[in-house]
Amino acid sequence: MTKLNDNYLKLKAGYLFPEITRRINEFAAANPGQEIIRLGIGDVTRPLPPAVIKAFHAGVDDLAGTENFHGYGPEQGYSWLIDTIIEKSYKPLGVELANSEVFISDGSKCDSANILDIFSLDNKVAIGDPVYPVYNDTNVMVGRTGEADAKGYYSGIVYMPCTEANNFMPEFPQEPVDIIYLCYPNNPTGTVATKEQLQGWVDYALKNDAVILFDAAYEAFITEPGIPHSIYEIEGAKRCAIEFRSFSKTAGFTGVRCGLTVVPQELKVSSANGEKVALNRLWNRRQTTKFNGVSYPVQRAAAAVYSDEGWAQVQEIIDYYMENARIIREGLAEAGITCYGGVNAPYIWLKTPAGLSSWEFFDKLLHECFVVGTPGSGFGPSGEGYFRLSAFGERSTVEKAVARIRDTWGK
Ligand SMILES: *Cc1c(COP(=O)(O)O)cnc(C)c1O
Repeated sequence: MTKLNDNYLKLKAGYLFPEITRRINEFAAANPGQEIIRLGIGDVTRPLPPAVIKAFHAGVDDLAGTENFHGYGPEQGYSWLIDTIIEKSYKPLGVELANSEVFISDGSKCDSANILDIFSLDNKVAIGDPVYPVYNDTNVMVGRTGEADAKGYYSGIVYMPCTEANNFMPEFPQEPVDIIYLCYPNNPTGTVATKEQLQGWVDYALKNDAVILFDAAYEAFITEPGIPHSIYEIEGAKRCAIEFRSFSKTAGFTGVRCGLTVVPQELKVSSANGEKVALNRLWNRRQTTKFNGVSYPVQRAAAAVYSDEGWAQVQEIIDYYMENARIIREGLAEAGITCYGGVNAPYIWLKTPAGLSSWEFFDKLLHECFVVGTPGSGFGPSGEGYFRLSAFGERSTVEKAVARIRDTWGK
């Protein structure tokens, strides 16, 4: 008899986004013709930059002729893309990487999930709260947890609350942990980690023989100098950290699919018989067995992000979103609403006014301002009392939304 992976049954049904849709539909049915502005999405809205489109097209044209045809590429990604990333994206940070340490993939959601393949189930995992749900749910799927409690915490996982009280930077876990997920700039809170704070985590990981899984999906949105773009800017990080990056938010690749994962050769973990083994070797084995690489035109498009032309165009789009973020931040402040993030990340994490719950604020915002955002409690119990607004949107609608919020709360 076939048996299920019962771990999947422990997962709570996707509640957040269906519930948001249900409430929007109910409001729309009762208020026909009312324009609703959506600032809830974690997806880009601007088209791909022209330099990227041009390279994407050229890649497709190559496939149309025998001369430049490409079949299977290297599972790890084409060397020319990897070298370009190292040269243009890591070297300027003072980070030296070898070609063999960078793996191109179809996005960092998959990588941050697939990485669990190379770690024993016996590892204790620590994740933030609130959090990007992928880290939590993939650990449930592989069987590293028990059931969820009433709050939504799964037994076996160490949750690290990130709230106003600790400036959205978790304290070190009280019990020993082996794998620590960190995401900075953070989704959903939009906050960042300083060099000193990340040094604290690297030192903690080295001292406790733990591995940090560092999600840098939003590094390109950092506007302030001195904020680390990569965990490898931190002394000792190559011995304890894996980094995930993505072209999704950086260059509008959410529908194109390209990301990368860095597994330094120096990063070693003990096998059952006490031998120190490089995780790079295992990840390489995993990728070459289970993955056949990212499509050639997509890698051509990704490489174009780093051309002078491409980079300027990408920067312009990021500036556009960050100007949206500024408008939202300043508008909320004028309305007397406390908010965080939005300076080095495209998300604004606001404290719900008047002690409203996340969902109460959602309803008020929808019914009085016709604006949709994401309830903080949907990202974890410690997100209760907070609310996420996204800067991915059209300028005119962002301005309209902010004006409505100011009119409602600013009186
Ligand atoms: C959007 C996002 C990613 C990117 O995922 P892709 O699979 O590369 O599109 C990764 N991490 C976080 C926290 C994100 O919000």
